[in-house]
Amino acid sequence: MNKINRKTFLKQASLLGLGGFTSSILSAWLPLPVLYGKRWVWMHPPHKRSEDDWLERFRNLKSKGIKSVLLMVYDSHKAFYNNPLLPVEQDILQRVLPLASQVGIEIHAWMWTLPNNNPDYAQHHPDWFVVNREGKPAHSHPAYVSYYKFMCPNHPEVREFLRQHVTFLASIEGLAGVHLDYIRMPDVILAEALQPKYNIVQDKEYPQYDYCYCNHCRRLFSELTGKDPISDLSDPFADAQWRQFRFDSVTSLVNEVLAPAIEAKGKYSSAAVFPNYESVRQQWMRWNLNAFFPMLYHNFYNAQPGWIAEQVRKFKNQIPLSKKIYAGVFVPALTPQELVEVEKLSLDAGAEGISFFDYNAMIELYG
Ligand SMILES: [Zn+2]
Repeated sequence: MNKINRKTFLKQASLLGLGGFTSSILSAWLPLPVLYGKRWVWMHPPHKRSEDDWLERFRNLKSKGIKSVLLMVYDSHKAFYNNPLLPVEQDILQRVLPLASQVGIEIHAWMWTLPNNNPDYAQHHPDWFVVNREGKPAHSHPAYVSYYKFMCPNHPEVREFLRQHVTFLASIEGLAGVHLDYIRMPDVILAEALQPKYNIVQDKEYPQYDYCYCNHCRRLFSELTGKDPISDLSDPFADAQWRQFRFDSVTSLVNEVLAPAIEAKGKYSSAAVFPNYESVRQQWMRWNLNAFFPMLYHNFYNAQPGWIAEQVRKFKNQIPLSKKIYAGVFVPALTPQELVEVEKLSLDAGAEGISFFDYNAMIELYG
């Protein structure tokens, strides 16, 4: 996709007679002065980089005004930092922290939260995973893609597992913060532009994508309302209490377990969140985190770039003044000119900054 967009952009630039200036346009857009606003980037862990290479990458980011990196340290199976709980792919974090500090870059640990793709857990803790309205658990019948093996936010052992993981991560010296990703349930309705990719039409909530109907969730809801979501709700989709219960399930995991664990170690807390939050049971406007990174990937929603700032304005009005919003943008879907405009409009709409998805797309497009 990156390549296609770059080609398309270069072609358009060439049609406009910009051929000779294209490379300077590509590399010149980011150092534009910004009066306020912070720039972040999501970075997947690259393998086998020398110290000089890391330093060069960080200096390059800084030259683009990006001083905060969300570095992936856990991908729902392997960890990229030493810890006693998870299989370790390699310890990238400890190598990178002093190098980033040397250049003046802050590192936030980006972790997948609820999916668990370590086969040991599916084998030994099958009851940890969410169950859909057809009674099928996510570890054996994941929705859409094989890695959609989400754990249940209401399971006490899942909560303890995540508490330990986040506590250990937040204890690492030199780390600026913990960034929670996939802190949600599977999408009951996918973003519009993604549905054709899976050859599905989701005009309402269908049972195979609707979670969680595990024993813990059914019991808790029944204690709260006297109703069982399987046998007592004729139309679970239309039941406001059941809908809110799912929102609250994720919210309580964040507010009662994860946010306090991060705060206890004095680290900055943030999460990657959805604009169509209802579809992933993610009422993030109520979460006690320092900052939110709504993934405003306009092309996923068949929207124009102007939609990004509209979303920022809408959500800024729904969160406390003390919380920050950084607009997450999908770099391959924006031309450099659009990106400049989106950043400016997002700041005007109340965002404290912008976050680029992802590092590789940035480098491919902008060097
Ligand atoms: Zn459940």
